[in-house]
Order: sequence, then C-alpha cells, then structure tokens
Amino acid sequence: MLNLTGKNALVTGIANNRSIAWGIAQQLHQAGANLGITYLPDDKGRMETKVAELVEPLQPSLFLPCNVQDDEQIETLFQTVQEQWGKIDILIHCLAFARRDDLTGNFSQTSRPGFTTALDISTYSLVKLSQGAAALMSEGGSIVTLTYLGGVKVIPNYNVMGVAKAALEMSVRYLAAELGPQNIRVNAISAGPIRTLASSAIGGILDMIHHVEEVAPLRRTVTQTEVGNTAAFLCSDLSSGMTGQVLYVDAGYEIMGM
Ligand code: NAD
Repeated sequence: MLNLTGKNALVTGIANNRSIAWGIAQQLHQAGANLGITYLPDDKGRMETKVAELVEPLQPSLFLPCNVQDDEQIETLFQTVQEQWGKIDILIHCLAFARRDDLTGNFSQTSRPGFTTALDISTYSLVKLSQGAAALMSEGGSIVTLTYLGGVKVIPNYNVMGVAKAALEMSVRYLAAELGPQNIRVNAISAGPIRTLASSAIGGILDMIHHVEEVAPLRRTVTQTEVGNTAAFLCSDLSSGMTGQVLYVDAGYEIMGM
C-alpha cells in the first residue's frame, strides 16, 4: 500500500492548477503526507495569494516563500522547517526557468546571462535545496526532481533548458551516490510534454504535444496526476530499492526511434 502517513513533504514549484507540482502535491496529500508548500514571491504578493488559495484544501502545515536564487530565503525556509517539523522526509524539486528568448531559435545564440540564469534556477537549485533537506532527513528520505527528454536528445527550441536538464540528471546521480549511505534516495521523473506556464514559453510546445499524441505508444501525452502518482511512488517505501534513476512518465514516447 502506498502510505505516506507521518511523512513531512516539502513541495516546490506550484504556480497554478496546471503546475506539475500541483499534481504531485495532491497525490502526496491523498497518500497521507503532511505538506509544506513553497511559492515564488513577487513584489505585489500575487503569487502568494493565488497559491495559498489553491493549496488550501490540502491543509499544508507550512507555507513559505522560496526564490531559489536567494540563499537567505532558502536558509530561512530550512530553519523554519527544522523549528516546525524537526525532520523532513520528502523534497519535491519541480521548478525551472529560462528566458523566453533562449527557448526559441538557435542554441548557439544563447547569451551568457541566459545560460547562467537557466542553469542556476533549473539545476543548481536542486543541489542547494538538497543540502538543506538532507541535513534534516534524519530518518532517511526521498528527493524527486522533474526533467525532460530534451536533456538527453535534441528537441527543437528546448535549447539551453536541454543543457540544464542534462546537468540536472547528472546532479541526480552525484547526489544519489553521496546521500545513499544516509538512506536518502534521489530520483528524477522525465515527464512527457504537458501544457503549463513554464512549457508555454517553449517555442512550438503545442506541436510537440500533438507529435507525442500521434507517435507515443499510448497515443497521448500524460497528465499532472500521472506524474504525481509516480512521484508518490518514488517518495514511498514501495520504491525503497531505487535511487539515482530517471523514470520516464511520457506515455512511452522515449522508446520510439521514429
Ligand atoms: P510551472 O510553470 O507550473 O512550474 C514552474 C515553477 O517554477 C513555477 O512554480 C515557478 O514559480 C517556479 N520558479 C521559476 N523560477 C523560480 C525561482 N527563481 N525560484 C523558485 N521557483 C521558481 O511549469 P511545470 O511545467 O509544472 O514545471 C515544473 C517542472 O517540470 C520543471 O522542472 C519543468 O522543466 C518540468 N517539466 C515540465 C514538462 C512540461 O511539459 N510541462 C515536461 C517535463 C518536465
């Protein structure tokens, strides 16, 4: 039985009801986990209000700002987690960002700031958040991140984000090797294309989704709930023997050569 009762789960990356992190948070809640939710703060507090309203039914016991580019916010986040929860069992890293200009056209034209920003937010944040979480995973734990096929194969327009995802997948392996002796498992889910705020910035995302619907063995793409179910599995004891892996939740698209 998939049971996360008594587990404290910190979920990053909810922006709205299309977010993959929202699908994951719902499944973790359903499995009995106690949730802490972070949001990306903005000057007018709009995101805070929007995300707070959305997650209210899941009754998170923590709701905190976390811009992963801000070390102080990350420190405050884990200090609060330590004070309120004592320990943490699950970290969901479900966020990414690249400038819209860098998600279309020629990869060779990527600017230095564009490259740095994409890798900082989308990749280094996993390392940084894992530092904070692992220190509080006193009874072992599970860290799950989200990746995409564009980190392994060339996907038109995915560009710098593909490089960020390749680095992310390798970070998963280094973290898994290092944290394994503390019974902390680190895995990634490679999701098929889903319409979200982040994916709408990728040039031709709708064509990508239609292509998957035509070619994938299941003749469709996947839902946030399907990704959420796999995340819940990776956070539970049902996957206790797995670490350092990239699991494809993509209706089978990855196996196809043509
Ligand atoms: P989304 O827009 O709903 O989520 C992206 C999140 O990143 C947002 O909540 C945003 O607030 C957050 N974020 C951006 N910059 C941040 C920062 N500096 N600090 C903290 N948070 C920040 O889109 P999504 O598609 O649900 O993306 C979630 C993850 O899933 C990403 O890693 C994405 O690459 C990955 N993914 C998405 C797809 C897809 O097709 N949608 C496919 C495979 C993988």
